[in-house]
Amino acid sequence: MTDKAIITSLAGLDRTELREIVLAVGVPEKQARMRVAQLWRWIYYSGVTDFAAMTDIAKPLRATLAEHYNLARPALAERQISKDGTRKYLIELGPGIEVEAVYIPGVGRSGALCISSQVGCTLNCTFCHTGTQNLVRNLTAAEIVTQIMIARDDLDDWPQSSNAQASRAITNIVFMGMGEPLYNLDNVADAMSILSDGEGIAISRRRITVSTSGVVPQMHDLGTRTQAMLAISLHAVNDELRNELVPINKAYPLKELLNACRNYPGASNARRITFEYVMLKDVNDTDAEARELVRLLAGIPAKINLIPFNPWPGTPYECSSWERIEAFAEIVNKAGYASPIRTPRGRDIDAACGQLRSTSIKKRASERMKERLAAQMPL
Ligand code: SAH
Ligand code: SF4
Repeated sequence: MTDKAIITSLAGLDRTELREIVLAVGVPEKQARMRVAQLWRWIYYSGVTDFAAMTDIAKPLRATLAEHYNLARPALAERQISKDGTRKYLIELGPGIEVEAVYIPGVGRSGALCISSQVGCTLNCTFCHTGTQNLVRNLTAAEIVTQIMIARDDLDDWPQSSNAQASRAITNIVFMGMGEPLYNLDNVADAMSILSDGEGIAISRRRITVSTSGVVPQMHDLGTRTQAMLAISLHAVNDELRNELVPINKAYPLKELLNACRNYPGASNARRITFEYVMLKDVNDTDAEARELVRLLAGIPAKINLIPFNPWPGTPYECSSWERIEAFAEIVNKAGYASPIRTPRGRDIDAACGQLRSTSIKKRASERMKERLAAQMPL
C-alpha cells in the first residue's frame, strides 16, 4: 500500500473527520449528519471494504467517494497462528514502521485483542524487549482502531460476515502491546470513543483495559476521559528494585503510584485494577515479596496477574521456576486473589508479552536481505 492510500482511507476516522469528508465531496450541509451516520455503520458495524457495498447511499455519491477515498486498512505484513489459537499480526504502517497486535482466544466472554499504542517505547524497562527499540512514534487514533479492524477481517468477525451466527471472537481489548498508552493519551482516548461507539464496533469501555508502567500524572485523566479499566505494571514491591526494573518509578515512586490507583475514577470491587507482576528468577520472586505485595495492595480493589517472564535474546533475566511461581501465587491466593497466574499464550509464535516485534524484525531483515539479493541476481 502506498502512503497516499493510508492518508485517503476512511477506515479509522472519527465522525468529525467523516463529516469534513462528506462536505468536501459536495454533500449539502443539512444531509451531512445522515451521510456520516450511514458511512459510520458501513465502516464500523459492517466492516465493508468497498463503497459499492453501501447500498443505502446513492450510486453517484458512492462513485465520488470511491474516486477520492478508499476503505483500506494498513497492510498486514505477516500473520502467524499458534497451536493454541493465538494469532499474531505484524502490521505495516509505513516503510519500516511496524507494530503488532495479538488475538488471544478464551479471554473475557470470548477473546481479547492485545493492541499497540506506539511504535517502540521511550521507556526502558529492563526486562522488556519493546523498550530496547529506538524507533518510536505515537500511533494515530486511526492506526489504533484499524488494528481491531484488521483482526476482525481476519477472524471473519463482523456481524454481517459469513460467520455471523458464531459468537463474537473479539469481546475485549487490552492496550498491552507495544508502547506506553499514557504517553499517547489523546489518540488512545479518541480510539476508545470509536471502538466503544454503540453504532459501530461497540466494544464496551469496561471491556477495554489500558496497561501503564505508571505515568501517574495521566492516570486520573485516563479514568475521567475514557472510563477504561486500568492495569498497572508493578513488578516490584519496593522503590529500589522498581527503580531498576521500571525506571519511570524514579519519577513516580510506588507511594504516588498506589495513591493514584486509590483515586482512579470508577475503581470498585466490580471494576478492579489489575496489577501485573512479571516473575523474574531470583529478582522479585520470594515469599516475602509476595506477602509485601498483598500488604501494599490492601484497600485497593485489585486483581493480581503474575506473568511468567518471556525471555528474549540478550536478556539478563530468567523466568522463575514453576514451583516458585506457584508458591508465590499460593500466598497471593490465600490473601483472597483468585487464579493469579497468567498462562503463557502463543509462545510458539513469540506472541507473548515483551516479545512483540523482536523476532519479526530479525525475520523481516533477513527477508529483505534475500529480496535484495534476489533483485541483484540475473534472471
Ligand atoms: N507500556 C505498558 C503496556 C505494554 S507492556 C506497560 O508497561 O504497562 C504490557 C505488559 O507486558 C506489561 O505489564 C509489561 O511489563 C509486560 N512485559 C514486558 N516485557 C515482558 C516480558 N519479557 N515478559 C513478560 N511480561 C513482559
Ligand atoms: Fe515500555 Fe511497557 Fe515495555 Fe516498559 S514494559 S518498556 S513501558 S512497553
